[in-house]
This record gives sequence, structure tokens and C-alpha cells, in this order.
Amino acid sequence: MAGANIDSRLAGIAESFGPETAAFAAEVTTDDAVSIAGRKTRWELGGPLAEGTTTVAAPAGIVDYVPNEMIATVRAGTLVADLNQELANAGQRSALVDRGGTVGGAIAVGEDDPLVLGVGRIRASVLQVRYVSAEGDVITGGGPTVKNVTGFDLPRLFVGSLGTLGSIVEVIVRTNPIPAVSRWLISDDVDPFAVRDAVLRPSAVFWNGSKTWVLLEGHQVDVEAEAFKLDQIGSFSDADGAPTFPPHRWSFAPADLKALPTQDLGPYVASVGVGTVFADNQQPRRTIDAGSQTIAARLKAEFDPKGRLNPGRNPNNR
Ligand SMILES: Cc1cc2nc3c(=O)[nH]c(=O)nc-3n(C[C@H](O)[C@H](O)[C@H](O)COP(=O)(O)OP(=O)(O)OC[C@H]3O[C@@H](n4cnc5c(N)ncnc54)[C@H](O)[C@@H]3O)c2cc1C
Repeated sequence: MAGANIDSRLAGIAESFGPETAAFAAEVTTDDAVSIAGRKTRWELGGPLAEGTTTVAAPAGIVDYVPNEMIATVRAGTLVADLNQELANAGQRSALVDRGGTVGGAIAVGEDDPLVLGVGRIRASVLQVRYVSAEGDVITGGGPTVKNVTGFDLPRLFVGSLGTLGSIVEVIVRTNPIPAVSRWLISDDVDPFAVRDAVLRPSAVFWNGSKTWVLLEGHQVDVEAEAFKLDQIGSFSDADGAPTFPPHRWSFAPADLKALPTQDLGPYVASVGVGTVFADNQQPRRTIDAGSQTIAARLKAEFDPKGRLNPGRNPNNR
């Protein structure tokens, strides 16, 4: 593209979306392969980056935060820690867990917080995604109010896409209130699968094959009432917090946790009701059915026909 055309295109982007987005669009819109780097805490996930790929950082900063509406507009390069600190100042939190990474990285990777039952799924919390397409256009998908949104559900598609469909520049995420009380309880005689029937909405139920941890959250009276119900199905005492999670995540259907292949896992902690199992051993690569592979390949070809976005990464290889 000729220089003057690029300049007028970037001027248009700056006018519509601000100078930070225009500067980012300028950096990622080349003929070359490009990858967005956050803090590289999950850098190798999905496969090693192809050699010769240019690495670019997304802009940072909280653009707008309205506690009453429980939404925050944030640039992708913002540290999750900085976002969560800003939210905590107003008594709120997000579905993004702080492990030293960026908001864009957390969304591109899409791993839910172990406390997902309490804080919610990342996929449900991203209300809007703004990205620079492979062709250099700035595209906005989704919106802050669910009822005004039509068309493809781009925010959900981008969660877990590992930067292979577009370069995320800004998102709107849903926030939720930090509960007044958070209480961890532990038992070594309860049936972990009975816990979710006994209490209304535990924020976490973890089970390592012998002990069960339960996180109750809410107002003091409600937490006490729920703790009383737990006492009816097992002997519980207060715990300091969550168990230590082994490093690897396995993915099961929640119902399959009752028949875990424990010999393959090594020491493990299972998230009851969710299906994630944190284990010492790595999960063998899952086979993806032919239909899903075809859909993924067609999507990739549609979003990135020249294969220049994060070459080498494949969201299905994890
Ligand atoms: C010890 C440890 C424990 C962890 N536990 C959890 C956990 O419990 N829950 C959880 O959710 N996460 C967890 N994580 C993962 C981590 O929090 C997220 O993956 C992290 O937020 C990724 O951010 P990053 O900035 O480091 O991304 P990077 O590692 O820099 O990037 C990851 C991928 O995303 C792509 N990417 C990054 N930014 C963008 C962008 N703006 N647009 C498009 N693509 C982009 C990159 O190209 C790369 O492919 C853990 C990480 C570690 C190291």
C-alpha cells in the first residue's frame, strides 16, 4: 500500500479509535508475520512461534471504568494486576486471574481462574473485543450492553484464539462485586459430588482424591447458613485457602470426574462442577474431530488468509 494511503487510513483510525489504537495498527499492519507479546507467561502455548516473526506489544491503560454498570474498557497491554487493583479500589473484581500477564494475553489464552464458579468464565466476561485485522482494519465485535449486539459473537471467538485471528487492542470486560465474606472449609469425609447439591452456589469445590475444599462467598448470614448445610453432609473445619495446584490442566466433562484416570494424572486437584483437573502430569494431546478441524481451518483462512498472525501457534494444540 502506498505511503499516502497508509497515512490517511491511520489518520482515520486515530480519529475514530484514538492515537494508541492507530499507533498499534501501524505497527501490526505490514506484509510480514506478526505476533503480539504480552508478558510471555504462556508464550509457547499452541506451538513455537515461526522464525522471523515480528513481535509487537499492545498499548496499555484503563480507558473507562464505570463501577455502577460493572464494566471496564481496557487496552490489551494492561497488566491484569493493574486492572484488578483498579477494580478492587471500587470493591469489584474480574474473571481474569493475575499471573503476571496482560489482559490481551489472558483473553488470547482463555484459561479460567480456578475460582471460576465464583468469578465467572472469561468467555462470558468479555463483552466487546476490538482488534486489528490481518488486512489492517480496526474491527469491533460485541458491545457493552448485550441486548444491542447483533452479528457474529466475536468476543467469544477471540477468547482462547491465541492471537491467530486478530491483534487485540482493546476490550470491554464485565466486572463483579468482591463478596463481603469469603470462607474456605475443608473436609476429609464428605462426598465432594454431594457438595453442590447441598449448598446453593459455592465459589469453588476442589478435591484431591481424599480431601475436599469448599469456598463459600457472600454476605455473612448467607455464608453461615451454607456452612451449616455443609455440616449436615460431612465434618468440616476452616481452611487457610485453596489447595496448591499442580502445574498442568486437564480438561474433562464435569460428570467424568467421578471416574478419573488417576494413574495417568499423578497427584491432582479436581475442580468439581467445572471439569478442570490440575495434575502433575501433562494431558496427552486430545484428538480434535474432523468437523471441528475443518471449521477452525476455514475460520483461520477467513480471518487471516495469508497466515501472518502468530504463525506457528495453533489453539487446538494445547
Ligand atoms: C504459573 C502460572 C499459573 C497460571 N495460572 C493461571 C490460572 O490459574 N488462570 C489463568 O487464567 N491463567 C493462568 N496462567 C496463565 C496466564 O495468566 C495467562 O495466560 C496470561 O495472562 C497471559 O498473558 P501474557 O501477557 O503473559 O501473554 P503471553 O504469554 O505474552 O501471550 C500468550 C499468547 O497470547 C497472544 N497474545 C498476547 N496478547 C495478545 C493480544 N493483545 N492480541 C492477540 N494475541 C495476543 C500471544 O501472541 C501468545 O500466543 C498462569 C500462568 C502461569 C505462568
